[in-house]
Amino acid sequence: MPRETDTLPDIQVQWTESGIPSEESIIDAAAAGMVSRKDEPYESFVKDLSLSRAKEFLTKMIEYGHESVLEHITFQFWVSMSRVASHQQVRHRMASYTQMSLRKKRSLTTDDFVVPPQIKSEDLGEWIADSKQVIDTYEKWLAKGYEVDVARRKLTQEARTDMVMTINARSLRNYFNLRAKHDADFEINAVAKRMYQLICEEGLGFLFEDIGFE
Ligand SMILES: Cc1cc2nc3c(=O)[nH]c(=O)nc-3n(C[C@H](O)[C@H](O)[C@H](O)COP(=O)(O)OP(=O)(O)OC[C@H]3O[C@@H](n4cnc5c(N)ncnc54)[C@H](O)[C@@H]3O)c2cc1C
Repeated sequence: MPRETDTLPDIQVQWTESGIPSEESIIDAAAAGMVSRKDEPYESFVKDLSLSRAKEFLTKMIEYGHESVLEHITFQFWVSMSRVASHQQVRHRMASYTQMSLRKKRSLTTDDFVVPPQIKSEDLGEWIADSKQVIDTYEKWLAKGYEVDVARRKLTQEARTDMVMTINARSLRNYFNLRAKHDADFEINAVAKRMYQLICEEGLGFLFEDIGFE
């Protein structure tokens, strides 16, 4: 249940076990870019390529707009958000997703509904009571013997869903450009900004810092 003082959407974003691009993958992406530029054998420049030199080179590639090089760098996140936000998320086709299925029968509680932070403390009880009503309706149709496929149609867009998203750095730049801006929906906006925060914590913010997060 959200705390009354929450001001951010009740979303969650975290790295998967192998979600953080390795230092080697950053070096490999830079070396790939060098393949297109250098008049020397690959082995001669890749063996001494340091991480700091690779980052510097990739920053230049971004400045030049040679962004296909960034497709060699892959991120993977576990994300928990509402169905309405997840619908926007999966519109980003240049990524891979695996999403929680609601075809499986779920024992739902009001924690399985994402409460918008805009809900005032005096309205929170009423909002949550409405979500409880949605759960009761879902369970009523299951109890009548209907399949989950039928009953789940009574669930509302605030129902929580989890997904794993795999996305390369080039596509993630497009995602941030569209979703980390003020006119994006507040929830996907929070997801995008949290992803960027996690990326910065890993020293990889240089791949995105020209985007201008709002
Ligand atoms: C503020 C905002 C409001 C929006 N409102 C609506 C709305 O009202 N209705 C609605 O339907 N959508 C809406 N969208 C979704 C939007 O139209 C995109 O579908 C979504 O943002 C995914 O962006 P994308 O296509 O660039 O990403 P991706 O699907 O990841 O594609 C990445 C890039 O690949 C290229 N690409 C991918 N597929 C094709 C293709 N078939 N042909 C040519 N190039 C391709 C494009 O260059 C594209 O930018 C909205 C998005 C935002 C940010």
